[in-house]
Amino acid sequence: MNAEIISIGTELLLGHVVNTNASFLSEKLAEAGIDVYRHATVGDNPARLTAAIMRALGRSDIVITSGGLGPTVDDITIETVAQLIGRKLILNRIILKDVKDYFKSKKVLFPKESLRQAYIPEGVKWIRNRVGTAPGLIAQYFSKKIVCLPGPPREIVPMFERDILPIIKRMSGGPVIRFRTIKTTGLAESQVDGKVRDLLNLKPPTTVGIYAKLGQVDLKIMAKAKTVREAERNISTVEKKIRFRLKEYIFGYDTDTLESAVVDTLIKKGLTIATAESCTGGLLANRITNVGGSSESFKAGLIAYANEAKESFLGVSHKTLKLHGAVSRPVAIEMAHAIKHYACADIGISITGIAGPTGGTKNKPVGLIYIALVTNEKCIVKEMRFRGSREEIKLQSSQAALDLIRRICALS
Ligand code: ATP
Ligand code: MG
Repeated sequence: MNAEIISIGTELLLGHVVNTNASFLSEKLAEAGIDVYRHATVGDNPARLTAAIMRALGRSDIVITSGGLGPTVDDITIETVAQLIGRKLILNRIILKDVKDYFKSKKVLFPKESLRQAYIPEGVKWIRNRVGTAPGLIAQYFSKKIVCLPGPPREIVPMFERDILPIIKRMSGGPVIRFRTIKTTGLAESQVDGKVRDLLNLKPPTTVGIYAKLGQVDLKIMAKAKTVREAERNISTVEKKIRFRLKEYIFGYDTDTLESAVVDTLIKKGLTIATAESCTGGLLANRITNVGGSSESFKAGLIAYANEAKESFLGVSHKTLKLHGAVSRPVAIEMAHAIKHYACADIGISITGIAGPTGGTKNKPVGLIYIALVTNEKCIVKEMRFRGSREEIKLQSSQAALDLIRRICALS
């Protein structure tokens, strides 16, 4: 069975809103074993929407639309679908009550524009919106189905997962698809590619894709099979090969992030940490503290941006700063020692560097970063050279620092 997704909204065509609904729907449909061959985006224009739905119906079993169900004049999905399937719009009293109750619960007077939302094509199945006001629709068009869903992500996500997906799964009865993402850091995309080239060439039903981001390369295994068990078995065979080849570069799976993997390991090992940051402006501490439960291991973070701050808050010596400059190995080491000491942590980590775009010199170019990590037994300093915008250099620096923590924890 296959499906096509039509995202509706002029704001999407103008690039004002990122089309997250299409990616959400695609992912969920793929997991349910439904092939999605095409995405289309159309503006709030009835003629173009009709043409897009007709084209999609010509080649797909299910056409799913998102957006344009609201009460405003630019919301044209219901009228368009009603015309297309040749049904007139009739008032649905249950929906009307729902919409009125919605406004009552918000202590807002019922706006007369919202009356429109209680009109749906005659004889069409409708889905209650538990978060907003616009109901979803499932319309039959000969042997095909048109599913209309609301645009706001907080409405479409629960409606699709709770009410639509079970219906689609029942209809499909076909193969299932399972995914597994293996996340790595510390290797460039080409290096990962070099280690798993043969797996990237695998043909369906089990395939592997490679996706590079800043400071991270993901491998996504996709397996299509008759049963979940079979799909998971096929995934696990490929996963074992990838694990064997990429070993310690792998930091996590699926929804893991590098910071969640780091906090996990710190907690498991019972280690505490403190950060002293210059050019990253607290990004490292922010990423660590974004992980729930990080208070078990994160003790303190300090942003010592100016040289005087490095001296007064961290006790970095004036002499070291003068002799080597703020972006140097010795300063990074002093910062890491100081924060470890002041915070009484097991690990002190520091970052100092030049995020750019100005401030670089021949000897110390933009992107030069020193990361120092100090424990009771070890003192490790890394010199890194990153490229990119100011924000990209900050992100890569925090990524490298997290990776260093992860690797040191794994050894201790
Ligand atoms: P409403 O009742 O809020 O008007 P609606 O079903 O009419 O809901 P739209 O008016 O098309 O939906 O979109 C409402 C908002 O939902 C948009 O401004 C946008 O922020 C968000 N939205 C719409 N379509 C998408 C999409 N494909 N991906 C992500 N967000 C979207
Ligand atoms: Mg709208």
